[in-house]
Amino acid sequence: MDCTKIHVRSFNPKRPGSLVAVMMTVSEYLGALYGNVAETRVGNSYGPCAECGGSIASPGIDHSRMIAPALSLKNGAVLLWAGTDCAPVPRIKQLAAMIGIDYLKPLEEQDPEFISVLLYGYDREPVSFVHNKRFRTDYYRGCVSDLQSMIDARTTSKGNLRMISFFSKQRECSACQGTGLSEGVLDINIAGLTLAELNKLAIPEMLTFVHCLRQSMDLHEFEIVEPIISHLFPILSYLSKIGLRTLPLNSAWRGLPALSSLINQK
Ligand SMILES: [Zn+2]
Repeated sequence: MDCTKIHVRSFNPKRPGSLVAVMMTVSEYLGALYGNVAETRVGNSYGPCAECGGSIASPGIDHSRMIAPALSLKNGAVLLWAGTDCAPVPRIKQLAAMIGIDYLKPLEEQDPEFISVLLYGYDREPVSFVHNKRFRTDYYRGCVSDLQSMIDARTTSKGNLRMISFFSKQRECSACQGTGLSEGVLDINIAGLTLAELNKLAIPEMLTFVHCLRQSMDLHEFEIVEPIISHLFPILSYLSKIGLRTLPLNSAWRGLPALSSLINQK
C-alpha cells in the first residue's frame, strides 16, 4: 500500500456517534500507526499474532468493561449506549432522576451502588420515558442484560457484533500482549514506546505522545503516518475532554482491509 496517498475521514466532536465505536477507532488507528511504521522498517511485518491469530475475544461478557466510572451519565458512562439514540438512553436518564444519580457528575464521585444498578437493573419500579415520540413504561434491566439479549438473539448487525466483541472477556496471550498483532509490529518502538506500552498510557499522556511525534520520527516516517496522527489527535482530545482517563482498549487484529476502511484511498 502506498501510504503517501492516504487521507482520513474527519471526526466531528459535536456528533461523535457511538462512544465504543470512537474508542475502537482509536485502537485501530494506533494499530495502523505502528503497522505503517513497521512496514517501512521491516517490509510484510504487519499481520495478526501467530499465537492467537489476532482474535483475543473469548466467550462471556466482561462486566467490568461496561461502565466507565470516570464519566458522567451525560458523557457516556454506560458505554453500551453512549453516543447512540437508542431507547435505553432516555430510559437511563429518567432512571437517574428517579433514584438520585447526578446525570452530570462522574459516577466514581457518587454512591458505588449506582454502578451496580446500571449494570444489573432496577426492579423496584418501572421507568417511564419518551423515545421516538412514544411514551413508554418498562423496567430498566441493566446494560449487561441488554448485551446478553443481543448475544442470545444471534444478532447479525455489524454494530452490535462490534459491541459484543468490545465487551467480551479477553484471552491472555503472552505472545502479543493482548494486542492481537504480529511480533513485527510489537517490536516497533516509536518515541520510546511499543504499541503495548502506548495502549497502557492515560489519555493525556497519549495526547502528548501524538503531539510530539514529529520531533521523534524521521521525516519519511512522519509523512507516512501524518494522516493517521491528524485524525487521532482530535479524537483523543475529545475523549480527554469528556473525562475519560484511559482506554479500555481491545486492539485485536483487524487486518489491512479494516485499515483501508478507515483510511480512504484517494
Ligand atoms: Zn496473540
